Amino acid sequence: MTIPSVRIKEFNDRPVNAKGDYLLYWMVSNRRAHYNYALEYAVEEAIKRGVPLLIFEGLRTSYPWSSKRCHQFVLEGMLEQQKIFQKHKVQYIPYVEPQENAGKGLMKALAEKAMMVVTDIYPAYFIPKMQKAFSSKSPCRVIGVDSNGLMPIYAPDRTFARAYDYRRFVQKNVERFFLDRPKKQPYKSAKLIREPIELTSIYERWTIPPLPGKDQMDGFLNNINYLHEIPSGAYVGGRQAALYKLRSFLTEHLPYYHEKRNDAEQEGTSFLSPYLHFGHISPHEIFWDIIEEKGWSPHQLSAKRGGQREGFWGLDPGTEAFLDQLLVWRELGFNTCANNPEFDSFSSLPQWAQQTLLDHSSDEKEYVYELEEFEHSKTHDEIWNAAQRQLKQEGRMHNYLRMLWGKKILEWSASPMDALHVMIELNNKYALDGRDPNSYSGIFWVLGRYDRAWGPERPIFGKIRYMSSDSTKRKLKLKNYLAKYGEQPSLI
Ligand SMILES: Cc1cc2nc3c(=O)[nH]c(=O)nc-3n(C[C@H](O)[C@H](O)[C@H](O)COP(=O)(O)OP(=O)(O)OC[C@H]3O[C@@H](n4cnc5c(N)ncnc54)[C@H](O)[C@@H]3O)c2cc1C
Repeated sequence: MTIPSVRIKEFNDRPVNAKGDYLLYWMVSNRRAHYNYALEYAVEEAIKRGVPLLIFEGLRTSYPWSSKRCHQFVLEGMLEQQKIFQKHKVQYIPYVEPQENAGKGLMKALAEKAMMVVTDIYPAYFIPKMQKAFSSKSPCRVIGVDSNGLMPIYAPDRTFARAYDYRRFVQKNVERFFLDRPKKQPYKSAKLIREPIELTSIYERWTIPPLPGKDQMDGFLNNINYLHEIPSGAYVGGRQAALYKLRSFLTEHLPYYHEKRNDAEQEGTSFLSPYLHFGHISPHEIFWDIIEEKGWSPHQLSAKRGGQREGFWGLDPGTEAFLDQLLVWRELGFNTCANNPEFDSFSSLPQWAQQTLLDHSSDEKEYVYELEEFEHSKTHDEIWNAAQRQLKQEGRMHNYLRMLWGKKILEWSASPMDALHVMIELNNKYALDGRDPNSYSGIFWVLGRYDRAWGPERPIFGKIRYMSSDSTKRKLKLKNYLAKYGEQPSLI
C-alpha cells in the first residue's frame, strides 16, 4: 500500500464482503480524477481484491445552502470527469438528484453489492455526519481517506492557537509528509479490471438522469428545487478551469503576490479557493506545479524551523507568501475542524476572545442591522455594501475586504453571537468557496481565533483586532471597485 497510513481511517468495523461485485468509491469532497489519495486507495483495493472499480459522485438537492451557483460548478466538474473515466473504461455514476430525497437509499443499495466502500475524509459541513450515518448502516466495510492537504489532517492530534504554532509544526515535519504525493491518474494501472458492472436492479429502482451537455445545462439546472434562489457565479467549475487559473496566476501574479495580495483592484491572487473547496484541484498539484517549475529541491529548506513566515522554502518572496496561505493558513483550518468538533460554535473561540466580546456585548452601538439588511447591502457604508454585492453577484469577495466585511458585521450586530450567525449564513449561502474549513477560519478569525489580544481596548470589539472602512479606503485603491460594485439598480 503506497498511501501513508495516517491518511486512512476505518469508518466502521464491518467485514469486507468477499462476494461483492466491485469496489465502490464514494466521491464526496475530492471531486477529481487527478492526484486524489482516496481514488488511489480505491484503485489499489480493487486491484488487490480482483474486482472492478465503481465510482459514485452524488449531488443532493437539499444540501445546506444549496443553490444553482454551487450545482452548476459541481456539474461542470462532473462533465469533465465523465469523459476521463469513460476514456479509461472505469464505471462512473454522476448522480444529480432530480428532486429532494429521490436518491434516498441509493448509496446503501450500491454498498450492498460492493466488497467495500472507500470515501473521502472531509472535516466540515454536513459530510462527517452523513458518512457516520451511512457507515453505521453499510453492510460492508467503509474506509475514509484524507486527501485534503499536504499535511495529513490527523498527523497532529491537537489544534493550534496561532498560525505561527502550526507553521512551526509544518516546518518540523515537512520532510516526513510533504514530499509524498498522490498518483496523477491511478486508474491507468494495467492491473485494474475494466469489465462492465451489472447494475440493472439499481437502474430499475432509481432514475439516474444523464448529465446535460453544456447547451442543456441551464434548463437542467432550472428544474431543480434549491433551498436558495441564487444565480450561477462568475466561475466555471472543473479541473481544466482550475489549471487555467493556476497557469495565469503563476505567470502574471505569483512573483508579486506578497505585495499585491491585498490590492482589491488588481486582484493578484489565484482565485483557486472554489476549486480547492469542491476538490476540483488538489493542493498537491498546485504545490508541485510551483516548486517543480522553480527547480526546487529539499536542500533549499531553511535549517531554522521556528515558525518564521519568510525564508523557509528558500524561494522568492512571492512564492513564499503564497505557500504560506496555501499550506499554513488553509491547512490550519482543516486541522481545527478535524480535531475540534465544536469548530463552528462561539465556545470554540479562545477564552480571552469570548471574555472580551461578552464584556463588551452591551456597549452602545451607532448602527445595528439585521441579517436581511446585511444581505441586501442596506448598511450606511458604501465599501461594505459593495463588498456584499460582489459576494452576492459573483460568489466571491476579495480577501482584504472579506476581513473588513466580517469586522463590520461584528461592529453592527446586536451581539457577537448574532454577528457569528450573520457571517456564517451570508458566507456559506453566497460564496462558492463557502461551507469549507476555511470559511470557519476566516469567520472565527474576525472574532479572535488564531489572533492575539490587541490594545487599546475599544467599545464593542474589546481586545479583538479592529478594522475601519476609512483606513481601508486609504490603504486600498477602490475607485474602480466601487464603480463596479457600488449601488446600481441592475444588480441583484
Ligand atoms: C470573513 C472571512 C471569510 C472567509 N471565508 C472563506 C471561505 O468561505 N472559503 C475559503 O476558502 N476562504 C475563506 N476565507 C479566507 C480567504 O479570504 C480566501 O481563502 C481567499 O480570499 C481565497 O482567494 P484566492 O483563492 O484567490 O486566495 P489566494 O490568495 O490565491 O490563496 C491561495 C489559497 O490559500 C488559501 N488561503 C488564502 N488566504 C487564506 C486565509 N486567510 N485563510 C485560510 N486560507 C487561505 C485558500 O485556499 C486560497 O485559495 C475567509 C476569510 C475571511 C476574513
